[in-house]
Amino acid sequence: MTAPLRDRLSAILRDVPDFPAPGIVFKDITPLLADPVLMGEALTAMLVPARRLGVTHVVGVESRGFLFGMPMALQLGVPFAPARKPGKLPWHTERESYELEYRSDVLEMHTDAVGAGARVLVVDDVLATGGTAAATCRLVERLGGTVVGVSVLVELGFLQGRTRLPDRAVHAVVTF
Ligand code: AMP
Repeated sequence: MTAPLRDRLSAILRDVPDFPAPGIVFKDITPLLADPVLMGEALTAMLVPARRLGVTHVVGVESRGFLFGMPMALQLGVPFAPARKPGKLPWHTERESYELEYRSDVLEMHTDAVGAGARVLVVDDVLATGGTAAATCRLVERLGGTVVGVSVLVELGFLQGRTRLPDRAVHAVVTF
């Protein structure tokens, strides 16, 4: 009998201690990317909320959010737009700053990426403190879009990222 999806994902995601800094246990998704069958199942599970939320656009967060967001957009038949680190996007951009534990960071999107009427699903690989996803949601809304949900593969529940996403529909396939 096949084990439940979350058990198979827990087994394939590689914990890398003290990366990129001491004390952080990094969830390495590359073994999952190398398993097309399980990756397909993971993407299908991440798409569950999108089907009932009436998503018109997927926004993926640099950079691992692209690996999940783009195939999800293709599955849904809707546009994909990247939220990128500063200075990467060539066209006119809007930016949003956010605080991390010891520093602040910035995300940018093209001003024409998601307009009024867009119903956006924000996608990333891991939800940790929630700062990145919250900043992406604010950026989408500044551009005129409506965030209808946040879909991640992994939620690090002990970091309580959902507290930074009150009133958002957050969907995680596996929670640690
Ligand atoms: P946060 O803003 O704290 O929710 O961090 C989320 C972003 O950082 C995501 O883009 C993740 O890819 C990355 N991230 C944070 N913590 C981890 C972790 N333990 N393992 C892998 N990626 C992480």
